[in-house]
Amino acid sequence: AYRKGGYHAVRAGDSFAGGRYVAQRKLGWGNFSTVWLAYDTRSHRFVALKIQKSAADFSGAALHEIEVLSAIAEGDPSNSKCIVRLLDHFKHSGPNGQHICLVVEFLGDSLLRLIRHNRYKCIGLNRVREICRSILLGLDYLHREVGIIHSDLKPENVLLVSTIDPAKDPVRSGFTPILERPEGNFTRGIVVSVIEKKLKRRARRAIAKISERRSSLGGVPVQEKSLEGVDLRCKIVDFGNACWFDKQFTTEIQTRQYRAPEVILGFRYSFSVDMWSFACIAFELATGDMLFTPRNGQAFSEDEDHLALMMELLGKIPRKIAIGGSRSKDYFDRHGDLKRIRRLKSLPLHQLLVDKYKFSNSDALEFSEFLCPILDFSPEKRPTAAQCLQHPWLRKKDPKPTEKINELCTGKVQAGLSELRLKVGK
Ligand code: ADP
Ligand code: MG
Repeated sequence: AYRKGGYHAVRAGDSFAGGRYVAQRKLGWGNFSTVWLAYDTRSHRFVALKIQKSAADFSGAALHEIEVLSAIAEGDPSNSKCIVRLLDHFKHSGPNGQHICLVVEFLGDSLLRLIRHNRYKCIGLNRVREICRSILLGLDYLHREVGIIHSDLKPENVLLVSTIDPAKDPVRSGFTPILERPEGNFTRGIVVSVIEKKLKRRARRAIAKISERRSSLGGVPVQEKSLEGVDLRCKIVDFGNACWFDKQFTTEIQTRQYRAPEVILGFRYSFSVDMWSFACIAFELATGDMLFTPRNGQAFSEDEDHLALMMELLGKIPRKIAIGGSRSKDYFDRHGDLKRIRRLKSLPLHQLLVDKYKFSNSDALEFSEFLCPILDFSPEKRPTAAQCLQHPWLRKKDPKPTEKINELCTGKVQAGLSELRLKVGK
């Protein structure tokens, strides 16, 4: 892929935008791009640099992403809507052609890494709720205020936000920026290295722990920090496939496992496709497993298996929907039954949660009452992100000691709960 039209090969220390950004190390990659941690020598902070493949299609997609992210930033001056912030963009010429580069705020690990790091088990329902709230805030803003469908929502495209002060975060501040300094401007380097020296030992220990954990996970790269007591927040990234709801350019959207039924069946789609993906993510966080993992068999396609899995979990697709899409004939007969997969084993969501994932009966019922309406086969019946944010499940809290201490930060203690203050203070 590192050829004409492809990725731009980057080494740590390479500089971009006339020397303003210096590449540090690779953070991740997608189909279209590689993403690097870079040091912004002007603002003296770390940023993420997304370097697009150079072929015309990819450049078009990057320009589109810049347009979308600019609109998103414009409507959210305080940067509080749980969407990644675009900071800058420019073109970079390399041996493989011209690459469009986006500079965005540097965020934490993706939910995919979080799930892997947690060894594919539930991350705790309070944490699931916190993450769900962030994603829903982001979706509500995107859908209602900007008019954009993300259309590729999945755990990889939701990144955790560190709420730890970077100066106190041994992993981040312990990272020495690689600076190619052509002239003798030493001030910045000295300031940075003083802070680092103080934290160097702690940092080294933390990094050693992380690589230990990494090797125990079989080489999976983990930047994840301990989750104890951290109020989790996250942000939605990757707007390369996003579209304005009234300007859709393609019918093939979303990553397989997170794809809504109306997309498979070839209907026009709307904001509610993101809600479907959101429900799939929530389930995955709560169980560690993907909600749907369709496979093709000898007699049936992956699409048909996917529809069968949906019906086993959620009941039969209403006939009108089953036969009404432009691709319905590929899967359904005129009665609304699948053509090649005849026998379905029904297993409703709450029962799956109890049987396979050992949820308590009440946890399972409450969680499935939250999820099932979002997994409605009729897209227009699905609740909006704003409606989901009102759901009582999101406001529930399992009592946990960490929560009590969090209350200290919210001002509730000052408002008269002095008993709590005494208890925690001792
Ligand atoms: P693509 O469009 O090629 O899929 P993404 O925007 O999804 O590119 O980025 C690819 C990967 O790079 C992400 O899954 C994530 O691991 C990493 N990444 C992207 N943006 C950031 C960021 N702002 N901070 C940290 N890592 C990021
Ligand atoms: Mg991506």
